[in-house]
Amino acid sequence: MVSDTTSVPYAGPQTFTGNRALDLEEGLLFEIGRTEVTGVDVPEPAPFKDRLGGHARTAPLELPGLSEPEAMRHYVRLSRMNYGIDSGLFPLGSCTMKHNPRLNEKMARLPGFADVHPLQPLSTVQGALGLMGELSRYLLELTGMQAVALQPKAGAHGELCGMMAIKAAHEASGSKRHVVLVPESAHGTNPATAALIGYEVRSIPARADGTVDPEAVKAALGPEVAALMLTNPNTCGLFERDVVAIAEAVHAAGAYFYSDGANFNAILGKVRIADLGVDAMHINLHKTFSTPHGGGGPGAGPVVLSAALAPFAPVPALVATADGLALVEDQGADGAQQALGRMSAFHGQMGMFVRALSWMLSHGADGMRQASEDAVLSANYIRACLMDVMSAPFAERPAMHEALFDDAWLAGTGISTLDVAKALIDEGYHPMTVYFPLVVHGAMLIEPTESESKASLDLFIAALRDLALAAKAGDKARFLGAPYYAPRRRLDETRAARAPVLRWVKPEPIPDAAE
Ligand SMILES: *Cc1c(COP(=O)(O)O)cnc(C)c1O
Repeated sequence: MVSDTTSVPYAGPQTFTGNRALDLEEGLLFEIGRTEVTGVDVPEPAPFKDRLGGHARTAPLELPGLSEPEAMRHYVRLSRMNYGIDSGLFPLGSCTMKHNPRLNEKMARLPGFADVHPLQPLSTVQGALGLMGELSRYLLELTGMQAVALQPKAGAHGELCGMMAIKAAHEASGSKRHVVLVPESAHGTNPATAALIGYEVRSIPARADGTVDPEAVKAALGPEVAALMLTNPNTCGLFERDVVAIAEAVHAAGAYFYSDGANFNAILGKVRIADLGVDAMHINLHKTFSTPHGGGGPGAGPVVLSAALAPFAPVPALVATADGLALVEDQGADGAQQALGRMSAFHGQMGMFVRALSWMLSHGADGMRQASEDAVLSANYIRACLMDVMSAPFAERPAMHEALFDDAWLAGTGISTLDVAKALIDEGYHPMTVYFPLVVHGAMLIEPTESESKASLDLFIAALRDLALAAKAGDKARFLGAPYYAPRRRLDETRAARAPVLRWVKPEPIPDAAE
């Protein structure tokens, strides 16, 4: 593991093909395809009269075609450039990248779940509705809350749903509160959500130990405050130990307490959210309950609500009737009539519901509790094993789901947090979350989850230790030019984010040489 890297790593010869052994270069479909080729043979249609009213295309579409083996290779090669939890440890902090057991996939592919259509008659989808009911029951049991809305399609969408319920509750009581308090250690989606529905966001500073001070919350509360949004465990990986006092202060001021539950993986089966005084909390099925995510793929962010907010849950509500389960459009959970409307066109991400319930059932109560215990143990193990070579803020408190480091240990090396992240790519790992949370300088946030074996954690730790020692020994080249071994080297990330090239433009034909 320990490499002798005192100079710029040799990145290998420039190959003729651009391929690097099993790492294959791959052009865009437009670059490698040809309009005259197709992978499928479709018979010419019989003469027919189109109904396009003269709008039929006259110019050729010029879609590039590939033969079947070429098409197969194209997508397989692209997939190999990707890094996922199935290829290695994915330490991205706050994202809970955990293994998605294949049993989940098998269940989600059962035709009765995979092939249902959201507009099918209810009598034909009783099993699917039953599964949604069972998932709801589990989520309520795990949180102790009163009602759950399954529709939101991401954590941020769940936040929106919960905050809209809070807004609806204030409006129903005639209150015109316009401020939402958000601690500095919150996830960025929290202030964004509050702002999106028209609230003014006021920030609450973290105290020296990285948590929120109930006195600071009390000082910020007033008759204009509609809610407090608290991420717990917070983005520093710490449990907000004064959460009950904070909730009491919020309620005493007539506001609601929104808890960001995306980090539920750390406390699943250990803490009942309702006991903390929470009014609304979203749960990321795609984090805690192992349903796959990444690349903007389908997520699911169900929201659990307290008794005070249950009447304001969105529609449709799943209710048991004499004729079986039904999705009722004109009332929220609890049969109340004040529902805030729809959060999505249909009923949510059915495929994620199946995977999440499958994970819950295969773990059972003891297994779920152990999953969160192991996730916390893994994070603390990583922190403890690296603390002597890297610097960990707030280390006097136990870490929850993630280990947080700052960049104090890099002082004087000329190497930044970003360089360490890039060098980790050369070691075959996806980088950790960097520069977040904002309250920690040069933050490196590592969330191993419970999926990793001790051997896997030890290898990751050894790789990071080796990098830390190399940085301190002055091996700048290993970092500043990294990644050396990835299909792409270091990108201009600002330009990639601000001015992405999303459209292929056909190159001008090369003119014939002049006579
Ligand atoms: C991931 C995350 C979110 C947002 O969830 P999305 O599904 O990405 O919208 C919100 N808060 C915290 C703490 C998170 O980790």
